[in-house]
Amino acid sequence: TNKIIAIDGYSSCGKSTLAKALGKQLRYLYVDSGAMYRAVTLYFIRNAVPVDDEAKVTDALNRIHIDFHIEPDKTSIYLNGEDISDEIRQMYVSDFVSEVSAVKAVRLAMVAQQQRLGRDKNIVMDGRDIGTTVFPDADLKIFMTADPKVRAERRYLELKNKGEKITLEEVFENLAHRDYIDTTREESPLVRASDAVILDNTDLNEEEQLQFVLDRL
Ligand code: C5P
Repeated sequence: TNKIIAIDGYSSCGKSTLAKALGKQLRYLYVDSGAMYRAVTLYFIRNAVPVDDEAKVTDALNRIHIDFHIEPDKTSIYLNGEDISDEIRQMYVSDFVSEVSAVKAVRLAMVAQQQRLGRDKNIVMDGRDIGTTVFPDADLKIFMTADPKVRAERRYLELKNKGEKITLEEVFENLAHRDYIDTTREESPLVRASDAVILDNTDLNEEEQLQFVLDRL
């Protein structure tokens, strides 16, 4: 049967960097579930969908089509046929994504699509609820964490290199805000699955993190 690796944790812990490296090393499909919530958020912002209006949310979800285009060295995400891979990393999306991700109907739709992606393939997926809700029977579950200051600094440098005009404080606030909403929401909050292995990468480089996971397979 197919193998599933679930990687969960706080914002900007390096989940997707690790998951991508694992996918490449093991030749598993890599899926960034956060990108899917960001895609929904972008649609909600563009179409001014009110998150507290159930009918409008349902209607919007019916109009949203998300696909991944997988190429040898990069995966792009498409929203209704448009490549939005770069747009969803912008701060105005990060600022609103946790509010959208707390909506039950949004989660039901994303989880269903994520489960379909992992039905018959070896897959490594990163997110907040992969080991708890999406794939509770995953073969290996990793829960990532790191010093919040280190996380903010890493993300700040990443955004600055992309030319975003932003301060370290703004990045720190955004991470704290998202972690707060993600851990306190009603619908599948961010929590370590009881059988997940904790990986604190405050002092580990990418190679060491990859080895940590490979040693546990
Ligand atoms: O992984 P990333 O930081 O891009 O995720 C953006 C946001 O999407 C998170 O802060 C969280 O609110 C939401 N998310 C989620 N469940 C997932 C993945 C992401 O609620 N499985």
